[in-house]
Amino acid sequence: MAARQPLIAGNWKMNRNHLEAIGLTQKVAFALPEKYFEKVEVAVLPPFTDLRSVQTLVDGDKLRLKYGAQDLSPHDSGAYTGDVSGAMLAKLGCTYVVVGHSERREYHAEDDDLVNRKVRAALKHGLRPILCVGEPLEVREASGHVEHTTAQLLAGLKGLRAEQVADVVVAYEPVWAIGTGRVATPADAQEVCAAIRSALATKYGDEVAGQVRVLYGGSVKSGNIGELIEQRDVDGALVGGASLDGDEFAKLSALA
Ligand code: PEP
Repeated sequence: MAARQPLIAGNWKMNRNHLEAIGLTQKVAFALPEKYFEKVEVAVLPPFTDLRSVQTLVDGDKLRLKYGAQDLSPHDSGAYTGDVSGAMLAKLGCTYVVVGHSERREYHAEDDDLVNRKVRAALKHGLRPILCVGEPLEVREASGHVEHTTAQLLAGLKGLRAEQVADVVVAYEPVWAIGTGRVATPADAQEVCAAIRSALATKYGDEVAGQVRVLYGGSVKSGNIGELIEQRDVDGALVGGASLDGDEFAKLSALA
């Protein structure tokens, strides 16, 4: 089975304008030796309005840094005011798009069906979806985290062929760990990431399950990435707050 290339992806959320994006992207790209990008994939996920700035920089300087968006429309085009399609993101050179982040599930009432349609839209346009799954605190406290998370996973992937699933990145993001400073223990992260891989193996076969990268997300920083990434089924991290500091994001990426 081929080794999975680690991925460290920085979700800027609704932070940094298109000018600030240039400095932050440069800081990350130039802080890491070029050769490093052969070993670890590093991506920035800025707001839509910053993507053109990031694209210009990456193309102009032939950077090996990847980039992507934080959401997309399930539709290709049309009367969907305020939405951005997968085709538009692909045209901007995006590699990744986050789908089903818990903040979108909570503040925009995105359910599993919509998340699934967005995953399909991403794949249709050649983007790699980063499908976010994870339990809220009350579910964790009731020990329902594995069941909750694997149900979200399978609902998000509904209707996909096995070879399409291999292109999906899954991010296990326990809601109670996002932006709280309360990181999951390495054992907690491994437990759920292993359960995700096992659910993928049952449904799509061992080969596909062995190809899918499963990230952990939730209060990751340079001080805790090392022990998380050491876990067998943790293939990288989706990083929120710590990705807004270029030095810190580069430092934690270097530890992956
Ligand atoms: C996130 O928003 O995906 C995230 C993991 O945030 P933070 O790292 O700030 O917890």
